[in-house]
Amino acid sequence: MATHCPYCALQCGMTLREEADSVSVLPRDFPTNRGGLCQKGWTSTELLGHPDRLTSPLLRDPASGELRPASWDAALDRITSGIRDVQEQHGRDAVAVFGGGGLTNEKAYALGRFARVALGTRHIDYNGRFCMSSAAAAGMRAFGVDRGLPFPLSDLGRADTLLLVGANPAETMPPLMRWLTEQRERGGKLIVVDPRVTATARQADLHLQPLPGTDLAVANALLHVALTEGYVDGEYIATRTTGFTAVKRTVAGWWPARAEALSGVPVADLAETARALGTAGRAIILTARGAEQHAKGVDTVTGFVNLALALGLPGRPGSGYGCLTGQGNGQGGREHGQKADQLPGYRRIDDLEARAHVARVWGVPADELPGPGVPAYQLLDSLGTEAGPRALLVFGSNPVVSAPRAARVEGRLRDLDLLVVADFLLSETAALADVVLPTAQWAEEDGTMTNLEGRVLRRRALRPPPADVRTDLAILAALTTRLQTQGRAPSYRLVHSKGPLLTAGTPSDEADAADPHAVFAELRRASAGGIADYAGISWDRIDATDGVFWPCPDDEGPDSPRLFTDRFATADGLARFHPVEHRPAAEEVCADYPLHFTTGRVLAQYQSGTQTRRVAALRRAAPEAFVELHPDLAERLGVADGEPVRVRSRRGEFQAPARLSPGIRPDTVFAPFHWGGRARANSVTNDAVDPISGMPEFKICAVRVEKA
Ligand code: SF4
Repeated sequence: MATHCPYCALQCGMTLREEADSVSVLPRDFPTNRGGLCQKGWTSTELLGHPDRLTSPLLRDPASGELRPASWDAALDRITSGIRDVQEQHGRDAVAVFGGGGLTNEKAYALGRFARVALGTRHIDYNGRFCMSSAAAAGMRAFGVDRGLPFPLSDLGRADTLLLVGANPAETMPPLMRWLTEQRERGGKLIVVDPRVTATARQADLHLQPLPGTDLAVANALLHVALTEGYVDGEYIATRTTGFTAVKRTVAGWWPARAEALSGVPVADLAETARALGTAGRAIILTARGAEQHAKGVDTVTGFVNLALALGLPGRPGSGYGCLTGQGNGQGGREHGQKADQLPGYRRIDDLEARAHVARVWGVPADELPGPGVPAYQLLDSLGTEAGPRALLVFGSNPVVSAPRAARVEGRLRDLDLLVVADFLLSETAALADVVLPTAQWAEEDGTMTNLEGRVLRRRALRPPPADVRTDLAILAALTTRLQTQGRAPSYRLVHSKGPLLTAGTPSDEADAADPHAVFAELRRASAGGIADYAGISWDRIDATDGVFWPCPDDEGPDSPRLFTDRFATADGLARFHPVEHRPAAEEVCADYPLHFTTGRVLAQYQSGTQTRRVAALRRAAPEAFVELHPDLAERLGVADGEPVRVRSRRGEFQAPARLSPGIRPDTVFAPFHWGGRARANSVTNDAVDPISGMPEFKICAVRVEKA
């Protein structure tokens, strides 16, 4: 059966086959992975029959404090009575929902509708906020649309110059490297900006190794050189953009020597990079988490967008700006309503027309829809406080490991009156819950995902879930029915795109609400006319092709693999420049905390590790966390390779063995964030957030390192 990998945004094509006592994986020749898979994809079916898998609901026993198996009726009753109690005492916003970037489009949509209609709360956000929200905000303000790549992945292979900023695809999405190999085999130049000599940086023709948190200075200096050397495209700027004069003024102050003094990137390398981009026939600039996960992430991405616009790249085949999305459905997850300020179709929740449209589809009065909530970290940090939500429902996320300043978030979760977690494994967050609901896995349910190119794909069910396990959609449908019976939620009005309005509140409504195909039909109507318009995308159409790119407003009309060819998605069709200035990290090094700390991923693990830490081959390949140190720093600290070290910041500490590497700056230490407990890197990360995107500053804080 043809489907896609459950993990990252590349969504590699694969074929699953039932064997006697297992499910085998075969790579599929799909346009994103061209027959390649990484180790995570190869081993992805191991969790289907894993002994740790949750196979019945769990309820916390008040006497013993332990989680005990329970019936679905008992679990759902506990949840709905908990919601009722909390909302009666503290109001509707006292219940919050936290989603995940791995949920299908159908689930993301249903979760948004559940929060706004069934619970009537404004509080919903998702872990995708921690992934690419800074690039999303920068893309919206420059281009009027946020789609990770506004062109097909195959364009990467055609670029003469490719600039990767804060991206390490050789470890995070290895099959993507095939496009980079093709690019270099065609004579193209690969330039990587990263504070570490990563597996990707090792393959680059030029590696710029800035101090963490100084990418924006590098971007402004590159545009400064492009201007002084005459590489900017005056005609493109005049006819396709607005606002360049202010940017020109700002970057005038970023002469290369100044940027070198701040970032450590040599003037000659800045000049070579600007020249390679400015003289290329086709050039692409890509950013990822290294540039984005900062309290100035939106401005940093904007700096590189400004550079791309000044060089006239966006909209030209083989050229442009893009962001490499991280999570499997980070893109679709926010397009359809998991984000605090968005309704389906990438509509703004504070836009009256958008509210009216979505309310019509949902069959509720527009003025009953709640207003915008708050971004993920702000939401998590308010849990259990006087003004914050008292109950939280988590679907497909593990903030105890993945949130910044994680010990504080863990404390907030413990303060809740009710914590419900729907997951298929007992994650660190689920282990704190009052109720745990066992959910189906990716190969046990149908749905759609939207990959890093904005390509909508089909996920297919190979087999049904185990007997006492339900899909997220079935859980949301059952909860809605129970809330309706208590008179706490409006009746269903699930509307098929071509069918009749269903009778409200009947069992068939619950069955339809649990049916991903019916939910997708409603999603199409809800997204129609929005920025992310899926109205013309049907499962049949996806099945007949290699996926359908949004926007796609008509059944018969074309989809949109390439955006911006003749206009941008702004009111006047012009892209917007925004002047952006470098500013220091939210926390700078000092005598007590003299080192920069940065986090990232490793090849054999994924996100909070709930899944990949349980896969035998991946555990063998990456069994534990580590702290990467330059040998000179290690010598100063008296630390040997493999020796346990303690990393401390103002917010907490974690421990892991030292790993010495000459590929990291001597003033910087790195650790992967896939582990919990004593090895939790997010115990020390900074919860300062970007004022526009709400993205926390995962990528830089001040620490000290000592022998443990
Ligand atoms: Fe799965 Fe991403 Fe690996 Fe492809 S690159 S196999 S989508 S984890």
